[in-house]
This record gives sequence, C-alpha cells and structure tokens, in this order.
Amino acid sequence: MITPLSKPLYVMAKPAGSHCNLACSYCYYLEKADRLYADESRHIMTDELLEQFVRQYIESQTTPDVLFTWHGGETFMRPLSFYRRVVQLQQYYAQGRRIDNCIQTNGTLVTPDWCRFLHDEGWLVGVSIDGPQEWHDTYRRTRSGKPSFREVVRGIEMMNRFGIEWNAMAVVNNLVVEDPIRFYEFFRDQLGCRFLQFAPIVERVMKDERGKELLALPPFSEDEEAQSSGQSESKASPPISGGVGGGLGLTPFSITPDAWGSFLCTLFDEWVRNDVGEMFVQIFDSTLANWMGVPPGLCTLAPDCGHAGVIEYNGDLYSCDHFVFPPFRLGNIKHRTIYELMNSPRQQAFAKIKRERLPRQCRQCDVLFACHGECPKNRFATTVDGEPGLNYLCRGYHRFFTHVRPYMDYMKNLLDQQKAPALVMDAIRRGEIQ
Ligand code: SF4
Ligand code: SF4
Repeated sequence: MITPLSKPLYVMAKPAGSHCNLACSYCYYLEKADRLYADESRHIMTDELLEQFVRQYIESQTTPDVLFTWHGGETFMRPLSFYRRVVQLQQYYAQGRRIDNCIQTNGTLVTPDWCRFLHDEGWLVGVSIDGPQEWHDTYRRTRSGKPSFREVVRGIEMMNRFGIEWNAMAVVNNLVVEDPIRFYEFFRDQLGCRFLQFAPIVERVMKDERGKELLALPPFSEDEEAQSSGQSESKASPPISGGVGGGLGLTPFSITPDAWGSFLCTLFDEWVRNDVGEMFVQIFDSTLANWMGVPPGLCTLAPDCGHAGVIEYNGDLYSCDHFVFPPFRLGNIKHRTIYELMNSPRQQAFAKIKRERLPRQCRQCDVLFACHGECPKNRFATTVDGEPGLNYLCRGYHRFFTHVRPYMDYMKNLLDQQKAPALVMDAIRRGEIQ
C-alpha cells in the first residue's frame, strides 16, 4: 500500500499536469489546466524541471529510503522515455539511498512495454477502478463519452500476466455506496485484488462569472487567501447547515453521511469475519493503526496534515493534492527548494488547520482519536450548536468508529500480545465478540 504519511516529507508529482485521456465526472483535477494554467499550452514537466525535482526531493529526505509517487491527470500520458529518464536521474542522485516508486493510473493505456518497465523497475501501480462495469462506466468515460471499464480490466489483466504489484483505488460514489458487498466481492472475487483503497466522493461546485461549474474552494481558503500574496479567486461556497447536504452545491454523485456510515459498517462486517490478514483494506488498517496509537497510512485519519505536498508540471508546489488552489500554492521549486517550501510557515499553518480548527463537537467526541475530524476539505457542515467546521461525513464516521470498537479493541489486544489480528475471526466464530 502507498503510505506517504510514514515519510516525514512527501511530494506527489504531476508530470503531465491534469492531462488525461478520460474525463471522469468526479475528477477533481481536470479543471486545473483551465483554472490555474490557462496561459500555458503545454502542461508537461520538462527535463530540466524533472532533474531539479528529483535532485531536490532526494536531498530533502531525512530517511534512507525515498518514495516517489507519480500522479495525474493520467501519468501514462507521458512516454516511457520520460520514466526511464526518471530512473536514470534517481540512480544518479540517490547517493546510496533506496528509491521506491509508485504510479497512479486509470489503467487504460497499459501496454506490454509499460508492463516490462514497471516489472523490471519494481514500481507499484495504483489503478483507479470503481467496481463492476455499470458503476464504473457511469462516471469514468472518455471526453467523447466512451466507457472505460473494459480497457481498465484489460490493463489489469496484462499487469497480472507480467507479475506487477498493483492495488485498486476506488471512488465510493452514490451508486457504489448502495451495495457495499457487491463492491467488495467484485474486487476480492472477480479481480483477485488484495490491496483495496477507496475514498468517499464529496464534491461541492460553484459557478464562475461565465456560469461555468467549478469545484468550490475548500474550507479555510479565505483565511489562507488573506495571508497569501494577493492572488485571489471568487469566494468559497457557504457552509452547509446540519451536514445533510441535500443538493446545496453538492454534485449528484456525492454520497450522504448516513450512506457512508452504512457502507463502511457493512463492508467491515464482511471483512472482519472472513478476510483479516488476506485482504488489506486501507481504511480498516488505518483505523487499527489509530487504535494502536501508531501513524495511519491514510492521511485523512491522521491528526495533522502538511506532510504530503503536490508538485505541478511547472514546479509549483501546493500544500496537498486536494488543496491545489491559489491560496495553497507554496511557491515554485525553481526559486525555493522543496525542503524550504514544505517547511515554510505557510505549510506549517496549513498543517495545523486540521487539529486547531476542530469544532467543539469533535474536541469532545469519543472517537476523535480515530477520526481526527477527517479531511479539512470536507469540513463545511455545522455542528448541532451551529458552529462551522464540522466534517460533512461526521455522522457516518461516528457510526463506523463506534461499530468497529469491540473488534478493534480485540485486534489491538492481539497485537499487544504479538499475536496475529486475524485471530479475531476465530473469536467472532466462537461468539466472543458480538
Ligand atoms: S487536507 Fe485532506 S487529503 Fe490533504 S493531507 Fe489533510 S487530510 Fe489528507
Ligand atoms: S466522528 Fe464527527 S464529531 Fe467525532 S471526530 Fe469525527 S467528525 Fe468530529
């Protein structure tokens, strides 16, 4: 699994900017080309910038191993020669450090040449796939409207033939969320996937002055904007009262808090009875990590942000992949190093938002240690007392963390005794955990 939070400093690279051969309905990144870089026609990382990035990134690490993540847009829009050059530069600047690479892709452009490269270089591949065909094809289509599921599965099958390590990254949308068991069985039984990551889709939109729909600026943007160097955009959307959503700027494919809670609980029940130790589900692993008091692999469940930046094709560095908006642009690596930018007061201020802006309802919550108020980008609801800054998905998370408590307590005890958490399945069969 990709666990960037285990790294003190981590930057995800966008070598093709937001360019992609697909145009998925809920892609949060496609609009970046027009919204941020409309003045430039070619959004690709030059060789010069690549070299600067690789050198600076390796130099900025305080651990002996270095993890590079290549992200999009669609990473395979860059030719293989680009990634061969990446490997060359990494070897040149490594100075004895161990280098790992992971690459996120929509899986539709996989070829035998790509497979040979990924296999020979030992790159880990993350594939975006949302479950069975009709769910996946509803939202993941080409610009001309063609479905992509078959191509993705073809890509996965080819990677399997070459023995490439891959994991699935799914979006839990309004369709998927209704049938968690079908979703899970698809990955486990049909795809033979053993590493499953998924994220809830919660997207708010607003209209620009020409009436074009854009992603709403995330919460806390206005504060950051005031501190930044005068770059401005239109105002963020108002908070959604009570966290119910109900179409108040939310896209139709976004999920509700109750559906999310129900999805997580149902899926967890299936996993904890049958698949612990066999199937690795990132959110369950991260929840157990929080129960153990060790850093979770999933940043949304960590107490702080700020470890994981994003570098755009032109060297612009942003606070986080979900905060690639002008108020969260830290600077450009041509002018200041990655180390300086990631340790700058602005990034430190961003890092603190998560912990310091928790509303009282969270600060007094019995599952705060597991939830940490989740991602600040979703904190646009208000608490029952009317305080802003509550996570829109709160009700779902609270239900989930309450539901898993006896199982997590049991697995924590097992781990404390240096026993395998998978023994929880026997305890359930014996009726020791209800
Ligand atoms: S803002 Fe959200 S996605 Fe970004 S690091 Fe924080 S929790 Fe993770
Ligand atoms: S469950 Fe709700 S109240 Fe509790 S920490 Fe999470 S978002 Fe806050």
